[in-house]
Amino acid sequence: MIANRSFDCVVLGAGPGGCAAAALVAEQGHSTLLIERDKLPRFHVGESLMPESHWIFERLGVSHEIEQLGFTRKNGVQFVSSSGKESMPFIFADHDDGPSNESWHVQRDKLDKLLFDTAYNRGATCIDQTRVLDIEIKKKGQHKVVMQTSDGKEQEIVSKVVIDASGQSSLIANRLQLKEYYEDLKKSAIWGYFDNAERAGGKNPEVTCILHTESKDAWFWYIPLGDGTVSVGVVGDNDFLLKRGGSPQQTFETEVNNCPGIKRRLRDATQSSLEGHKGRFNVAKEFSYRTTQQAGDGWVLVGDAGGFIDPIYSSGVYLALWSGMKAGEAVAEGLGKNDVSAKQLGRWSKDYESGVALIRKLVRAFYNKDFSFAGFMKEHPQHAGELTDLLVGRVFDGKVGAIFEDMDPWIEKLQAEAV
Ligand SMILES: Cc1cc2nc3c(=O)[nH]c(=O)nc-3n(C[C@H](O)[C@H](O)[C@H](O)COP(=O)(O)OP(=O)(O)OC[C@H]3O[C@@H](n4cnc5c(N)ncnc54)[C@H](O)[C@@H]3O)c2cc1C
Repeated sequence: MIANRSFDCVVLGAGPGGCAAAALVAEQGHSTLLIERDKLPRFHVGESLMPESHWIFERLGVSHEIEQLGFTRKNGVQFVSSSGKESMPFIFADHDDGPSNESWHVQRDKLDKLLFDTAYNRGATCIDQTRVLDIEIKKKGQHKVVMQTSDGKEQEIVSKVVIDASGQSSLIANRLQLKEYYEDLKKSAIWGYFDNAERAGGKNPEVTCILHTESKDAWFWYIPLGDGTVSVGVVGDNDFLLKRGGSPQQTFETEVNNCPGIKRRLRDATQSSLEGHKGRFNVAKEFSYRTTQQAGDGWVLVGDAGGFIDPIYSSGVYLALWSGMKAGEAVAEGLGKNDVSAKQLGRWSKDYESGVALIRKLVRAFYNKDFSFAGFMKEHPQHAGELTDLLVGRVFDGKVGAIFEDMDPWIEKLQAEAV
């Protein structure tokens, strides 16, 4: 139980989005409660970060601490075609000399705990092992949050603002029925962690590798982590992956055999013996959706609680951090001037939706079976800069867009030729 019953701001969920938001509201002196269901540190998928996360880590003052956590540096992205043809890795530093030209492959338990501690150090009251059971959005502020603490007791809190950062639980969006699934992106994933899997050695840079299976019905991620394991996951249509019979492990292994690049990389590998990974194949399904509203009077959604596109470009954590930062700043300012209207709390949401729309376009291009980055870039080398901006996450400054004027007709032409 916590002593205080009333807060300026309650944040639901302590992933990257919730922690960033809580830290930035609390540092402005507003009483802030951050509530997390799980016991921290906790396991979470989402290990490959977009380089532009750098600026938010700087804003939160955690860049130095992140350097100390032993994460693998992510230097770029590599795509491997369905025939097993390896593209030249797309190395961020070859296209960009700024400080955000590299990133990290992180273990989320460590990253998220650091961010939770950061929120605490900025003055937020931070509690884990506490589940939010109910939220009542009141018209004139003073929203009600009911939670169950680790001792099993229920407690009611009132707050002027609620920031929902509860990830795929989407507590507010579910309650207000704001969620919409993308019909064409009903995907699922099965993943595990491997010891002795192939990784870059010597001077070769570590990259996030994206590999199509031979049939192009699925793709694998391959993310080398700092604890010596490699995170390997397969993504495909929900029905294709989960409704074919057999266990997740059997499906995973069948698809490994359909993917020469993964088969080679896992040749000598065994499933990780680390606690929590051993003998375990994780499943996530139908994770892509949007919400029809990002903010209302006294509430705002950040990160996955407001929508998630797809894991293909590793944008989830960055988008959670960016929206967490923007919502945190808007809430802190709003509380300061006694304006917690939807307009104030969601003042960043138009820019956010425009940036997310660019990533969504690139996601849809990837799932078009006729598309290949190598083919497109060969014909349109003038877009290398914009492609870099998209892959590093530089999508919020309004500079990207022209690439799609050529990419859309290029895909249409390929489709017409394929018929
Ligand atoms: C298969 C897959 C692979 C992915 N790979 C990547 C990747 O490589 N890179 C990347 O950047 N992103 C990736 N993502 C996306 C990434 O995992 C998310 O976008 C990111 O974690 C969102 O952060 P968040 O802060 O919004 O929510 P989360 O990190 O999900 O945090 C939400 C928190 O809310 C808590 N919570 C939920 N319900 C309650 C409740 N009732 N009461 C209290 N607390 C609650 C949860 O316990 C959780 O800790 C992937 C996603 C999937 C599905």
